[in-house]
Amino acid sequence: MRIPVIAGNWKMNLDRSAAVALARELRDHAASSSAAVGGASGGGAARVEIGVAPPFPYLEAVRSLLRGTPIWVAGQNVSHEKLGAFTGEVAASMLVDVGCSHVLVGHSERRHLYGESSDLVGRKLAAALAAGLAPLLCVGETLAERQAGKTNAVVLEQLESGLKGQEEASLGRLLIAYEPVWAIGTGVNATPAQAGEVHRLIREWLGRRFSKAFAAATRILYGGSVKAENAAELLAVDDVDGALVGGASLTAASFLKIVAACPTRAR
Ligand code: PEP
Repeated sequence: MRIPVIAGNWKMNLDRSAAVALARELRDHAASSSAAVGGASGGGAARVEIGVAPPFPYLEAVRSLLRGTPIWVAGQNVSHEKLGAFTGEVAASMLVDVGCSHVLVGHSERRHLYGESSDLVGRKLAAALAAGLAPLLCVGETLAERQAGKTNAVVLEQLESGLKGQEEASLGRLLIAYEPVWAIGTGVNATPAQAGEVHRLIREWLGRRFSKAFAAATRILYGGSVKAENAAELLAVDDVDGALVGGASLTAASFLKIVAACPTRAR
């Protein structure tokens, strides 16, 4: 059963008081709609799972506000190293220490602005798993790659490298986000047909690489200019199991409209 997930990537936005205020609004929403909002471990009826990825300095404050709610908290990035002389890096164990249960790996801004290779993304994913974090592996092609007909090849290479050496048994909490780079922060979202095509490709690949049962159970989120106005049609696509939301996750009003647009049935 795939319970839909709506996750907010706050990127390098907000200050401490705005981050805390946003978390408080999400907490209040979760409290007032506890039947429909579930956490990663929530059982029972189908529900929408919510997560947020605040900037590192605000993780602990946001996490302590959300403690006791099913809303999970994620790091936006993680080191592939355990601990040591790696100035400016954050270890997976530190994310766990401040209460994160999830972490983004391979976000396109990390790949394209900071030169993270697919191989490095794979090592980060392994570090996250080793620390007990649920990785949210982001994959997606640039506009030039799409125009050159390379979308499938790029996405498959990022999956192969990102999950290299991994066994199905360790990936029970894996989330994948298909985020076409040309759709991130541009206001131009993939059409439901474009998203559906790549989500199907990813699910078929998971079935070949792991097992059909694993492919059927793994949630694949769409990300790229998701907003209240386009969420319903994107989230209605068969293989789209939720959304990773950047800009529209920065106010509770717009983020919660996307949550409200999400079908609450598990697939
Ligand atoms: C993202 O950063 O993952 C993202 C999808 O951003 P936006 O929603 O702003 O396009």
